[in-house]
Amino acid sequence: MRHIVLLGSTGSIGTQTLDVIRKNPGIAEVKALASGGGRVDLMEQQVREFHPETAVIYNEAAARDLQVRLKDTSVRVLSGMEGLLEICRMENADMVVTAMVGMIGLRPTVEAIKSHKTIALANKETLVCAGEYIMRLAAEEQVDILPVDSEHSAIFQCLDGRGPETVRRILLTASGGPFRGWTFDQLKNVTPEQALKHPNWSMGAKITTDSATMMNKGLEMIEAKWLFGVRPDQIEVVVHPQSIVHSAVEFTNGSVIAQMGVPDMRLPIQEALEYPKRGNITVDPLDLFQKSPLTFEKPDEGTFKSIPMARWALEKGGLYPAVYNASNELAVSRFLQRKIGFTDIYREVELALEQYDKGAAHPAAYTLEDVFEVTDPFLTV
Ligand code: NDP
Ligand code: MG
Repeated sequence: MRHIVLLGSTGSIGTQTLDVIRKNPGIAEVKALASGGGRVDLMEQQVREFHPETAVIYNEAAARDLQVRLKDTSVRVLSGMEGLLEICRMENADMVVTAMVGMIGLRPTVEAIKSHKTIALANKETLVCAGEYIMRLAAEEQVDILPVDSEHSAIFQCLDGRGPETVRRILLTASGGPFRGWTFDQLKNVTPEQALKHPNWSMGAKITTDSATMMNKGLEMIEAKWLFGVRPDQIEVVVHPQSIVHSAVEFTNGSVIAQMGVPDMRLPIQEALEYPKRGNITVDPLDLFQKSPLTFEKPDEGTFKSIPMARWALEKGGLYPAVYNASNELAVSRFLQRKIGFTDIYREVELALEQYDKGAAHPAAYTLEDVFEVTDPFLTV
């Protein structure tokens, strides 16, 4: 049984993680929960149902509110970054599920690795900002990073322990989002309401917007490079609107292994929680007769500029991916607040990358402080 710390418990991944635990008694015990502060009611319910020792709310006022509500319990309530770091060090936990949104997850993830916790990684922004640093640290500390993102969980399962020397290509699938087939001009007037309607997945607002711009696929290309140690030119994006094939690996001998399943995040979450075991089914079984035909097409990189931009940032290396991620976080938040238009998201990321490219130093090797220096100006929390 796992003993978990769940960062981002009130979000889409967080609540689905708790649902997997609810439906599979014995799979994991919850030692700590953490959230941002937007949903104190839900946090209170989660504490009463899962009985963690500690609950953290980043926002101090919301944490005080939770503390008052929970005064009939023995739960310790903490707040702020210090609270998040403290639960990542908990002696009696062995896994940290990183399901908080955005690069604010970087410090807690680093703390968890240094404290030798297995990482179930949903928070892709962290790996995009500091992939090289995180992977090196995890190797030094001998900590496993188990992907939760469905595509990366699929690739991880297809590889089944084989190294990058066996890989010819990674076929990273994408649903194409709600605007598949649209032209760039048509995208200009997209509203937050339209962007927040995803055809196959129900997710938080940030990643749903990223799926609509396909910035999410750019982030996932970068995430794949770091998780699996492949070169950028080995990662091919394949649009597969049915979201049944969650990704595939083409090996050097031409054999292609794909992983399939219903589009339900509880499947990759369960895979990470019980790895390397396979327990009982939580999601609906896959009915291929009902889902057929499965189709595959090339992405429209002229419209969805996020993909060539990510490839460029990856090839440049160093802190370029951090700038790609950070400028996107700010742009998405501004789009959701109706301060900029949908296609301005690409423009803002492009501008940030151009500006960074014109700057003085582009260190190939960087420290964590360097990452904070280039990303802090874009922080939204
Ligand atoms: P949500 O927006 O649904 O949830 C985000 C969670 O993070 C909430 O619990 C939120 O708390 C919490 N949070 C926000 N800021 C802080 C903070 N400063 N300190 C602590 N907690 C904080 O996002 P998702 O669940 O959709 O996504 C989470 C991560 O997983 C993202 O990185 C995303 O890219 C990735 N992912 C998500 C998938 C999905 O299907 N949803 C699929 C693959 C990856 P509060 O409720 O209080 O705001
Ligand atoms: Mg994904």
